[in-house]
Amino acid sequence: MIVFDLQCREGHRFEGWFASAKEFGAQKKRGLLSCPSCGGTGIERALSAPRLNMGAQEPARTVQKTPDMEGKDPFAIAQMLYSRMLDEVLTKSEDVGKRFPEEARKIFYKESPGRAIRGQATAEEHDELVDEGIPVARFPVPPSGSLN
Ligand SMILES: [Zn+2]
Repeated sequence: MIVFDLQCREGHRFEGWFASAKEFGAQKKRGLLSCPSCGGTGIERALSAPRLNMGAQEPARTVQKTPDMEGKDPFAIAQMLYSRMLDEVLTKSEDVGKRFPEEARKIFYKESPGRAIRGQATAEEHDELVDEGIPVARFPVPPSGSLN
């Protein structure tokens, strides 16, 4: 799984989860990606340059550089940062599995404590959540967790 920072034409930023960069490309091509804030479909990957900017006054604080990053090119470092961010998201979000649509609604309507959750939703369930204005980011169900 990979998480991308995405941005719509209106400049809303959100996260999208994908099995791979290729999967992101395929979903984008089929127009399956939409902005959770405005529903816009002109979705692009947001530039993450500011996070990786080594040219700030105090580079050491801009990026948490670790010894294993020494000598690596910026792309490799970006990959490492991505995987760390992914680890963080996975450890800090609660996996609610197939209860995702239900839980997302409860959190949205404040019937459940606000927190980061991840889980599964069918395309229909996803669309319903979006229609209700509930911010959700779509990501494909991993092959091992098929809904069918
Ligand atoms: Zn938007």
